[in-house]
Amino acid sequence: MWRPSFSKDYDSTPVNVASTTVVMEPRCDSNLSSMEFQACKFMSHQAFQHWKVQILVNALSAMKAPVDLVCVRCPSDVRHRAGYSPRHNKIWMCANKIWNPFEFRRVLTHELTHAFDFARAKVDTGNPVHMACTEIRAWNLSGECDLWTNWFKYLGEDMINRKQRCVRDGAMASLLENERCQDPSVARAAMDEAWPQCWKDYWPFTTKPDLDNRYRQSPMLK
Ligand SMILES: [Zn+2]
Repeated sequence: MWRPSFSKDYDSTPVNVASTTVVMEPRCDSNLSSMEFQACKFMSHQAFQHWKVQILVNALSAMKAPVDLVCVRCPSDVRHRAGYSPRHNKIWMCANKIWNPFEFRRVLTHELTHAFDFARAKVDTGNPVHMACTEIRAWNLSGECDLWTNWFKYLGEDMINRKQRCVRDGAMASLLENERCQDPSVARAAMDEAWPQCWKDYWPFTTKPDLDNRYRQSPMLK
């Protein structure tokens, strides 16, 4: 039986209480049109079919940290499309900003990775190195930087380390959005410190995420 080695709490939880039928039913913000909410709901149901989302959702459930999903309306002038609140253990998706189900799934995977990191370790939101680490992992594992997702953007560019650069740029941008880490030199130093460990950390996945589109059942469901 597979068990993650990092969580003591997990050890005291029998694996059979990990729900195999977790359904995250999105909740709605009253500022959304019903069309936007329906689209958000539809895309989340699509996303829950994907193995990466399933592994993360089941891991969170097994760690007794299931997340809520809320579809909300976001102001049009902000850059973010979704977010995770560790205090409320909620993921919110900007239903008025995402219309592509594949993008929705990658953004949701990104936020679920943050939720996973907060569940498995004491993440200090005021510590730039901690934040850099979870952003590196979220950008790396979500597929947002995979070659397949971005081939049209990367075409004709130097492909060497292209994914690394994309993860770095994405994580850097996310760090700077955080009002507690707005000094670029602090953010850069935190990225350098977190990179070697966090770039190679795939938990709760067991393989490198690059170009990995094969379905694999979660080891927790076996
Ligand atoms: Zn993030």
